[in-house]
Amino acid sequence: MPSIFTKIIKREIPAKIIFEDDACIAFHDIAPQAPVHVVITPKKEIRSLADIAQGDEKILGHLLVTASQIAQKLNIDKSGYRVIINTNDDGGQTVFHIHLHLLGGRALSWPPG
Ligand code: AMP
Repeated sequence: MPSIFTKIIKREIPAKIIFEDDACIAFHDIAPQAPVHVVITPKKEIRSLADIAQGDEKILGHLLVTASQIAQKLNIDKSGYRVIINTNDDGGQTVFHIHLHLLGGRALSWPPG
């Protein structure tokens, strides 16, 4: 079964896409937890951070570089932001296609719940 994010990549379901290249796609989260809440996910379907393998360094680095660029584009780089990878059940992961959350536009509390 393709993940819901693969369906977004294939344009089978709609999303507010703000960036795409050969390796990844970024779109606004459907249930935003902050004024800026962007999901950045690779086109390669990797289940979670617990499932990465040797050779995935390049894509993981690319996701982080993309997050930094989107934060600049959305003008939250100076105010600050948080990048999160929820992993498996205790990490609160609900979509099992690895992705970064880019959250910003307000002060975020710490520690997380
Ligand atoms: P996680 O719980 O870390 O796996 O994150 C999954 C995220 O995907 C959640 O923040 C959801 O709100 C978001 N999400 C699920 N379906 C969609 C969708 N169709 N379009 C945009 N965001 C989605």
